[in-house]
Amino acid sequence: MTLKLTPPQQVEEILTNFSQAGYEIFIVGGVVRDAILGKSLYDWDFTTSATPEEILKLYPDAFYDNKFGTVGIEDSQKGRPYEITTYRTEHGYSDSRHPDEVKWGKSLEEDLARRDFTINAMALKQIRPGEFEIIDPYHGEQDAQNKVIRSVGNPTARFSEDALRMMRAVRIAAQLGFAIEEQTLEAIRINAPLISKVSGERVRDELLKIMASESPADGYLLLHNCGLGEEILPEMEKTFGVQQQSPGRHHIYDVGTHSVESVRNCQSPDPITRLATLIHDVGKVRTQKVFPDGKITFYNHEMESAKIATKIAERLRFSNAQTDKFFRLVRWHQFTVDERQTDSAVRRFIHNVSKDNILDMLSLRVGDRLGGGARETSWRLERFKQRLVDVQKQPFSVTDLKINGRDIMEVKQVPTGPQVGKYLAALFKEVVDKGVPNEKEALLERLKQISA
Ligand code: ATP
Ligand code: MG
Repeated sequence: MTLKLTPPQQVEEILTNFSQAGYEIFIVGGVVRDAILGKSLYDWDFTTSATPEEILKLYPDAFYDNKFGTVGIEDSQKGRPYEITTYRTEHGYSDSRHPDEVKWGKSLEEDLARRDFTINAMALKQIRPGEFEIIDPYHGEQDAQNKVIRSVGNPTARFSEDALRMMRAVRIAAQLGFAIEEQTLEAIRINAPLISKVSGERVRDELLKIMASESPADGYLLLHNCGLGEEILPEMEKTFGVQQQSPGRHHIYDVGTHSVESVRNCQSPDPITRLATLIHDVGKVRTQKVFPDGKITFYNHEMESAKIATKIAERLRFSNAQTDKFFRLVRWHQFTVDERQTDSAVRRFIHNVSKDNILDMLSLRVGDRLGGGARETSWRLERFKQRLVDVQKQPFSVTDLKINGRDIMEVKQVPTGPQVGKYLAALFKEVVDKGVPNEKEALLERLKQISA
């Protein structure tokens, strides 16, 4: 089979340079999969018969990463560097994480055999510029067409070699909308506990990619169904089956199903916000109270959820910024939109959630509503949104006014002293109570008309 393709010019140059120097070279990895699927292409990876030393002779300015034996060539378009790796073959993973030794392979075939899934184990060989032969020993193209993720070789052996591959299977399934082939899925069910051998960072990266994908809800359901959910988010798994239908209340699902439906309906693209939406009710497990009349309450569950969120963030090695946002969204998700609350209560809410997170906080709420069978919004929520905007236009204190003491002294011809403060306080009231805009021109105009 051949494929017509117009890669960046630098890619063609790399292929030509290696061939002319007498080495074999192929395009490999995710970019081949994406080319077959007709997707946009980035992150070009190559495999070659040349050793790192030989590659560095061809490209003296390239950088060499000793650990993986990968040579990086700078992309003149400033994208991720082109990564060229000598044929590899891997033997013996006694810890389910790292090969005991990385060995150079002798052929393309060996290199493709060590790759994780059939759709990731294809290679492209340049026949002439713009035309490529597809080398596909594991029938990845057919699996791509059937939208299937299948291990190369024996799935149980491949997952016990490297447990991260199980997370990669679910992540790629969520990104591409593919299914995991039955035997591959069964092998994940058996090997799921091995994921504990993988570092929090690597699990986090895959989990956040699942959240950032087109189908975060189905991605999580896949984690749930194959047993990886129990390993990486046990707190979340405990919410399935926790009932919350009270007489006269809106809930239609148990807590776990509601959470998954909430993330399905969360409109923010941000993976941290989506994960916060998924786990926002985990605190309901410990705070559930069932009364004799059938009423169910979860008093203060958001505080319990926030505690658990901090634990999850630690376990998954979130950055400080990620942890802060994750915590705030979960901690304050029960905010009231009651129109009778005071301006200062609304300001406190903004302060708690932090200005930068307000839109994501609202996305969580909309997801929460839709995921519970409610309408997307209500007049109260709409009015609250408007109030958030209005309150933020108002100055928070006299020092936020877009006018200062020097302006007052000049316009009012008064000396430094208590009178300046009185004028500022009067202007502050004009803005807060009478809707005078907090803009310099408007404030100067108003200042002329008042006396302190
Ligand atoms: P993306 O770049 O979109 O995340 P990808 O498939 O390119 O997806 P990379 O992590 O860039 O993933 O890896 C490049 C290639 O290396 C993969 O396509 C696969 O062939 C191989 N690979 C990556 N990780 C593993 C692994 N843990 N086990 C076996 N092969 C792997
Ligand atoms: Mg890649």
